[in-house]
Amino acid sequence: MREIVLIKNGELALKGLNRNSFEDKLIKNMKSRLADLGKFEFTKSQSTIMVEAQSDETDLDLAVERISKVFGIAALSRACVCEKDFDIIRKAAVQYLEEQLEDAATFKVEAKRSDKKFPMKSPEICREAGGYILSKFNHLKVDVHNPDIIVTIEIRDKYAFIHGNSIKGAGGMPTGTSGRAAILISGGIDSPVAAYMMAKRGIELCAVHFASPPYTSELAEMKVMELLKKVAKYSGTITTYVVPFTKIQEKIRDLCPEEYFTIIMRRIMMEISEKIAVNQNCSALITGESVGQVASQTIYALACTDCAVEMPVFRPCIGMDKEEIIKISRKIDTFETSIQPYEDCCTVFTPKHPKTRPHVEDVAKAQNKITDLDELVEEAIKNAKKVIIR
Ligand code: ATP
Ligand code: MG
Repeated sequence: MREIVLIKNGELALKGLNRNSFEDKLIKNMKSRLADLGKFEFTKSQSTIMVEAQSDETDLDLAVERISKVFGIAALSRACVCEKDFDIIRKAAVQYLEEQLEDAATFKVEAKRSDKKFPMKSPEICREAGGYILSKFNHLKVDVHNPDIIVTIEIRDKYAFIHGNSIKGAGGMPTGTSGRAAILISGGIDSPVAAYMMAKRGIELCAVHFASPPYTSELAEMKVMELLKKVAKYSGTITTYVVPFTKIQEKIRDLCPEEYFTIIMRRIMMEISEKIAVNQNCSALITGESVGQVASQTIYALACTDCAVEMPVFRPCIGMDKEEIIKISRKIDTFETSIQPYEDCCTVFTPKHPKTRPHVEDVAKAQNKITDLDELVEEAIKNAKKVIIR
């Protein structure tokens, strides 16, 4: 049986004149996500995009799973394609949805008739198809309010499509329709969630990770790559820079007052990330910070990090409780990786009594004790390792 995937756009439908370019972007994103699974044809038609594999060998289960993580899609359905002949349609419905109808206790039929020349009207299609399905599955009952399965019959211009319940899409906006931003990614729980949340709003990601070997291990870096791979299932390709941070951290330890260690480190991370971001055509930075989580995330400390850069800094987790962040990290499957216990550069040289109400002038003064900071920053950027995460 010929099968396709029907894609219902999410917020896209609301975007008026931009709709076309948004749809094109969505198709491009789906194409790149399916590239290694075979050839697919994409057709736009009345706020639906049809995706069809060009070979019977293609793994459609995997394709549907991949598509379900592409932003900009409200819902998707796997459908069978058949001729616009009612007898063929009702038989196809029974055959195509046999397993699901066996498992269901209740059902209803919904018809969408965009081809007004089709001889039966929607209520008649529902009634007749429903009666036929009942005659084939004795255990089934009709429930128009809360059925286990909705059998949808769509009569379109060339063909009829039949499908069961649709699958919820990833929502949001197609990646790339809202510009580019750089996520400061650690191995923790919050930053992968922050990356996911901004990608969901259509932002294309690049990433910056700071590593401080030998204080941080190779395993810690691998963990971050693993996390980015999981985020990339939603966001698409992430160009990543791993910045060597050891020298700078040692300088902070040797030259700055201990109470400011973390906040100065955070500021320098932001400065380096901003430089990389500019180079990468990004217009904003993203972090996983959340008010009050740790001493470096009081609003006073955040103010001190914020003014280290000129770019806007997005912190989508800012008002969330840890439990809420964890819930998302479980949903996107980063949680189990995040909780693996490897040192992050944030956990080396942590002050015993960090300042929770730092003043910008004091922090800047303390930071100025590193007189060769500009050179160190340049050197770190020059030695950063570039990794493309897909
Ligand atoms: P996370 O769970 O994201 O690590 P956290 O609550 O542990 O966050 P911190 O360790 O204080 O908080 O880090 C705050 C933010 O700073 C992170 O969300 C991340 O955006 C950034 N950050 C921390 N460590 C690194 C790192 N090694 N490389 C890049 N960014 C980092
Ligand atoms: Mg952390």
